Amino acid sequence: MAASPARRPLRARRLAAVCLCVALVAVVGIGLAGGTATAQGGQQRNPDNLVAPSALAYQEEPKDGQQCSGCQFYIPDQNGDGMGACTLITGTVDPQGWCNSYSPYETASQ
Ligand code: SF4
Repeated sequence: MAASPARRPLRARRLAAVCLCVALVAVVGIGLAGGTATAQGGQQRNPDNLVAPSALAYQEEPKDGQQCSGCQFYIPDQNGDGMGACTLITGTVDPQGWCNSYSPYETASQ
């Protein structure tokens, strides 16, 4: 059964709203995983100057009390998926991850 002419605009608006939400989530996700962003230590992420996680022995678990969320190169989660990024390696990183370039993030209050 075809929608009545009066209902079509509402369906079209709902579809447009859903498409817009999907597009925004995709853009934020892609931006974090493959784009630029600023780390909590202030470094700018350059997508053209990243290495593979394996090059820095990245792992998804902390090591000796050190983890990405405490590293100056860490970019906190920006799309709500729980994953952050890094100014040194490609892709996303787990806030509880670690690599051999870990460098502690020290705030002004520390
Ligand atoms: S520990 Fe390594 S992977 Fe994690 S944020 Fe720091 S430099 Fe990036």
